[in-house]
Amino acid sequence: MNQWFNEELDEQYFDLGARVSIKIGETLFEGQSDFQKLQIVKTPNFGNMMILDGAVMLTEANEFAYHEMIAHIPLFAHPNPKRVLIIGGGDGGAAREVLRHACVEECVMVEIDGLVVEKSREFFPTIACELDNPRLTLLIEDGIKYIENAQNEFDVILIDSTDPAGPAEGLFTADFYKKVNNALKVDGLMAAQAESPYYFQKTQKELFGVLNGIFPYTTMYLSAIPFYPSGTWSFAFASKDYSEISHARVVDLEKMTPSLQYVNPALFRGCFALPNFIKKIIA
Ligand code: SAM
Repeated sequence: MNQWFNEELDEQYFDLGARVSIKIGETLFEGQSDFQKLQIVKTPNFGNMMILDGAVMLTEANEFAYHEMIAHIPLFAHPNPKRVLIIGGGDGGAAREVLRHACVEECVMVEIDGLVVEKSREFFPTIACELDNPRLTLLIEDGIKYIENAQNEFDVILIDSTDPAGPAEGLFTADFYKKVNNALKVDGLMAAQAESPYYFQKTQKELFGVLNGIFPYTTMYLSAIPFYPSGTWSFAFASKDYSEISHARVVDLEKMTPSLQYVNPALFRGCFALPNFIKKIIA
């Protein structure tokens, strides 16, 4: 019954000659939306797994390493995040983590694909568990269109996107990040999933070329995520005013730490320590 799911990176991206391989069981859902192919499968040891257009998005067993990091690092770096925007994130994991912050009055989540949200509610109830929280405004529309009309509105913006192909292609462009900059308040900051520094250096160089030209302060932080290509994953951090530590709410983070699986105060500081080859990518 068990077979292997292979994420064929060499076909999908460059001629890498590497792939992610995970033993899978029963298929729970398979369907094509207007935007992408969604598959949800059982795995013997890591819970249910979501795959979009052949790329692993998450498993129930280790989604925390992604969702805690995309949300808590920027939210704890901001002294008082009240309004937060998530672009993408249809599984609900980033929203779940954002809403742990009592200071957040409203989180707007703009996901292009209603099918991802619908099936996450059904097959990932521990991830989608805050999607009906009254502090969450969930919009099913293109984040690129949404951001055009947002001016000086958000303290923190999270780009929780798929890889730079299909509907997410525009989420890696200068035009988009200029609009993100406009949508942030004067002291706002943002974080974006930024691929693997081992395999996707070209994408990262382009992304940081864009961010460095728009934001006064940029850096990168890392997380270890086993089923993403290479297992080393990165997030771009870009800010109009605060560095990652200048206004960090360390006491609040200490209080939240017992309820988290990944982030703690030492990890918050340590995730910004970058190997030399990565410093060159983002310079
Ligand atoms: N949280 C996930 C994880 O653990 O890997 C990250 C993937 S999340 C499912 C990415 C979402 O971004 C997808 O549901 C996709 O539909 C959405 N997305 C892609 N392009 C988008 C766009 N232009 N506007 C809004 N959402 C977009």
